[in-house]
Amino acid sequence: MATAPRGRPSTLLELNVDLVVIAVDIHPKQATVATVDLNGRLLSRSVVPVTSDPASSTRLITECMLRMQRGLPGKTIEGIGVALPGRIDPGTHLLVFAPNLQWPDFDLKGAIEKKMHLPVTMENAATACLIAEVTGGRIDGIRDAVMVTVSEGVGTSVFANGQLINGLHGMAGEFGHIPLDPSGLPCSCGRRGCWETFASCRAALRYYQELQSKAETITFHELLNRAEEGDQHAAQALAQQALYIGRGLAPIIAGLSPSVILVAGDITSAWHRFGPIIEKEAAALTLVGTPPQILPTHDGDIERLRGAAALVFQRRPTREQLHQSDPAAVMA
Ligand SMILES: [Zn+2]
Repeated sequence: MATAPRGRPSTLLELNVDLVVIAVDIHPKQATVATVDLNGRLLSRSVVPVTSDPASSTRLITECMLRMQRGLPGKTIEGIGVALPGRIDPGTHLLVFAPNLQWPDFDLKGAIEKKMHLPVTMENAATACLIAEVTGGRIDGIRDAVMVTVSEGVGTSVFANGQLINGLHGMAGEFGHIPLDPSGLPCSCGRRGCWETFASCRAALRYYQELQSKAETITFHELLNRAEEGDQHAAQALAQQALYIGRGLAPIIAGLSPSVILVAGDITSAWHRFGPIIEKEAAALTLVGTPPQILPTHDGDIERLRGAAALVFQRRPTREQLHQSDPAAVMA
């Protein structure tokens, strides 16, 4: 197991619990809508379906938000944070690349703001998770880190020299669409053999089907459960996914040399399966010196909601105001 960064975790002060944000985590088939208070507590959570029609999907999401708003009398909603499986152009705020969502050009921010009359901040899910880790103090003292989110696809976000990297049109960090095998399976982006076609949760389900030699529709959660219940094919499928997650770190490690690679997604709940395989691959790919630490995020499938909430909270008090001063936690 990798060790945590130096320093004890800082202690959260109890902050104004009347201030809340609405956090939304959008996936290709469903979105989770939640309310989160300033202390990071989830107050409510609900799942709504998402389709390839952005307008009707957004209507279901905003209707859910309105129901939650009505359930919080006396609370002040600070804003709405949205974590997306795609890239948002920081200049236009439009979703410019979301191959797994398959939405045409759509002004999601404008549509939600019009309905909710609240400010909306949107970000790529991996970037939102990275912002949550940076503002939460988890990688204090670290100047080079990469967040890898593993779900229906594989997303990444880059923190280099102490700064988030956006790139032209906000497209920096699309390592998930670097081909591991240019003659591999078609990818949702239109190319072939991208990292995510080998390393996503969809890939793990495909490996499982191939091993089972029968078509069976199960969820990734069910696959994780089957592995824990002793299903050897499920365990093999997850091990294969872990191997490819590790192999796909090659351009990240060689190109950016991060000291920490954070991993978010449902796979973190089975880290005893994934961690050792990914760490071994990362060590083999490291050209000089110690390999990057591979750290799972703590919150499993709610990490992206934490990230969405952090998009709103980052505009509020600084980390110093959010955390009790703890000299022992200050990095050397
Ligand atoms: Zn691709």
